[in-house]
Amino acid sequence: ESVFQFEQVCYRYKQDRTAALNGISFRIPLGQKTAIVGPNGAGKSTLIFHMNGLFGCESGTILFRGERLNKTTQAELVQRVGVVFQDPDDQIISMTVKDDVAFGPAQLGLSASEANRLAMESMEMVGISHLAGLNPAELSFGQKKQVAVAGVIAMNTEVVILDEPMAFLDPLGQKRIQHIMDRLAADGKTVIIATHNMQLVAEWADHAIVVKDGVCLGHMSPRELFCEH
Ligand code: ADP
Ligand code: ADP
Repeated sequence: ESVFQFEQVCYRYKQDRTAALNGISFRIPLGQKTAIVGPNGAGKSTLIFHMNGLFGCESGTILFRGERLNKTTQAELVQRVGVVFQDPDDQIISMTVKDDVAFGPAQLGLSASEANRLAMESMEMVGISHLAGLNPAELSFGQKKQVAVAGVIAMNTEVVILDEPMAFLDPLGQKRIQHIMDRLAADGKTVIIATHNMQLVAEWADHAIVVKDGVCLGHMSPRELFCEH
């Protein structure tokens, strides 16, 4: 079963001469660790915007869990697909770390006390409980990234997407994030990363999708690609 299936999807930013997605087709298998790989400008972030409903499909088809997306189901994606964006400043909105992490679950309609409980749990899992009362604006990049990760974990979505999860993190921060990515996958979630870090792909992914110039160049198992037989 696929969690996402893209068929001939195109997307062009206003004023851009070339399309960011150029008739791209691929599948992302359910419950696996998938890496979307490709150079800067390949279209990875644009794909992610389609996977959490931020962008609608202009031409082509997107299926989520086998169902073709429509306006309603596209709008619901934001509650079913958690995204950690590359730049944490894009998603930090509250005055304290705790409120920021609790924002997602509160948006899902949970009570304030339930949202707070989930926020505490996910801050613990990410290792940022001691930052709970601080203003996110005063944290380092790596700490902000951890706040964004905790916020997504607190929503307990069936799919978690991380855009360049290791970018600008120190080795300990990278190790923590990778541990969390593995734990989410072990919990049965579909975890998707977008990256140009081939070492991470080789070590971590079950499945890789290679994207360049808005098309998919192929699917492969990183073990096939990197390991000798
Ligand atoms: P990535 O590491 O995903 O390639 P980019 O550096 O391409 O990130 O993009 C960072 C941000 O800048 C994104 O929010 C993206 O939408 C925006 N961006 C990228 N290219 C352009 C462009 N040509 N014009 C305007 N905004 C852009
Ligand atoms: P990646 O994440 O793989 O680096 P992106 O999806 O960010 O790639 O970008 C794909 C293409 O779309 C690039 O040519 C980029 O310049 C363009 N692009 C991205 N964001 C914007 C934007 N906000 N406005 C205009 N063009 C953009």
